[in-house]
Amino acid sequence: MRHTREEGIQKLKKELNAVILVHSYQRGEVQDIGDYVGDSLGLCIEASKTDAEVIVFCGVHFMAESAKLINPGKTVIIPDYNAGCPMADMASGDELRKLKAEHPEALVVCYVNSTAEVKAESDICCTSSNAIQVVESLPEDKEIIFVPDKYLGGYTAHQTGREMILWQGYCPTHQKILPEDIRKRREEYPDGVVLVHPECSAPVIQEADQVGSTGFIVNFCTESDKKIFIIGTEHGIIHRLKKLNPDKAFIPVTERALCPNMKLTTLSSVLRSMERLETKVEIAPEVAERAYKPVERMLALSGQGVNRK
Ligand code: SF4
Repeated sequence: MRHTREEGIQKLKKELNAVILVHSYQRGEVQDIGDYVGDSLGLCIEASKTDAEVIVFCGVHFMAESAKLINPGKTVIIPDYNAGCPMADMASGDELRKLKAEHPEALVVCYVNSTAEVKAESDICCTSSNAIQVVESLPEDKEIIFVPDKYLGGYTAHQTGREMILWQGYCPTHQKILPEDIRKRREEYPDGVVLVHPECSAPVIQEADQVGSTGFIVNFCTESDKKIFIIGTEHGIIHRLKKLNPDKAFIPVTERALCPNMKLTTLSSVLRSMERLETKVEIAPEVAERAYKPVERMLALSGQGVNRK
């Protein structure tokens, strides 16, 4: 009997004792086969809780790496190994070591959108959901280096009143969202509530009604009694928002905000990766041990005890 790709994936999931974790920026059809769909923090927490033996991570490379850091004894596979993150690649361990040498007393807060090498040089991780909480947890007399996203770092500095040394990385997808796009949408939908992600630039954030992670955006729109929402983040989230709220309208600030790396994963690549159990995410043990620490501190701050497996 010939299986559809969805049936094939479900069958392999049972055989492998696998869990499928999917980021909200993935293609709609990939989100639909996920056991859990969420933002980076939610996915980290799910990875820390799972009893599955195999984690199929539908997202980009640094996310699968974080799952592996939390679950070194498990098999973590990423369906398309080319699914990297240009922002994560804007910071290297060598460059960060140089900056740390210039600021030897500084604490390093590292956005989870970073390589394991960069995490290994950091004191604590954050996501866009908890960056403010993470920075507020640090002693006030300490200098802070924030790596790699200058926009999330700038927004967090503004919200906390803390001065920070900002790495000059950015997300090329969120950079495509412009303040004039929001103004145009407001004219088209005067009742629309504008929500943007903190990876957007400061002028875009200033135009918004609400700023937060994809998890925040999903919760806000689901709980709100408003009917029209103008969404300033990667386009894939619209699928999730519509699925959860079929009676509400979701309009992207711009159709240009598409992350090509997030879209590399398809049902075919998920099926193939599960059939072949590849590509496995591996991290050199000496890097993994150091890179895990800042992730663990972040999860502890979020009230998540980790049973590292
Ligand atoms: S949306 Fe931006 S931050 Fe997210 S994976 Fe794509 S390039 Fe990286």
